[in-house]
Amino acid sequence: MTHSAPSQSSKEHNHSVCVSTALGTAEQLCGQRGVQLTPIRHQVLELIWASHKAVKAYELLDQLKPLLQAAKPATIYRALDFLMEQGFVHRVESLNAFVGCRCSALQHEQLLLICKHCHEVEERPAPEVMSTLSAEINQAGFMVHSKSIEIQGVCAACRQLPAVQNT
Ligand SMILES: [Zn+2]
Ligand SMILES: [Zn+2]
Ligand SMILES: [Zn+2]
Repeated sequence: MTHSAPSQSSKEHNHSVCVSTALGTAEQLCGQRGVQLTPIRHQVLELIWASHKAVKAYELLDQLKPLLQAAKPATIYRALDFLMEQGFVHRVESLNAFVGCRCSALQHEQLLLICKHCHEVEERPAPEVMSTLSAEINQAGFMVHSKSIEIQGVCAACRQLPAVQNT
């Protein structure tokens, strides 16, 4: 079983492009929005973008500590709150973890496909699903605070691994 490859995306792509795009977009949007991407916020965003996998707050703290000895859980949570507010990061409720967002629009709807094998999260806009859902929600007279749909399963790349059962 060849599953000890360095943990980047199992899909073949040049991940350094994802990282530099995400960080560049965040810097640019913070400038436009008049908010500060402080060094800590920047660092946390970079750590989250180490891969497309969902990462837990304590894992971020462990990684931040060698870089910033004074880092505390509150340091991480404050940075995460900011990054989520700006739409740079999404919380994956079912894993209690966080993943970088590619679209970086302020608070937006998302369909998250979560691989239980590699914990990679693929975000898809799914506009038709979302508008059908909105109609249903409006009919109920319900006020939505956040709209995120999380789907659990096995991603396309993992499905090709011989050792992975499609269960
Ligand atoms: Zn990537
Ligand atoms: Zn997003
Ligand atoms: Zn996977």
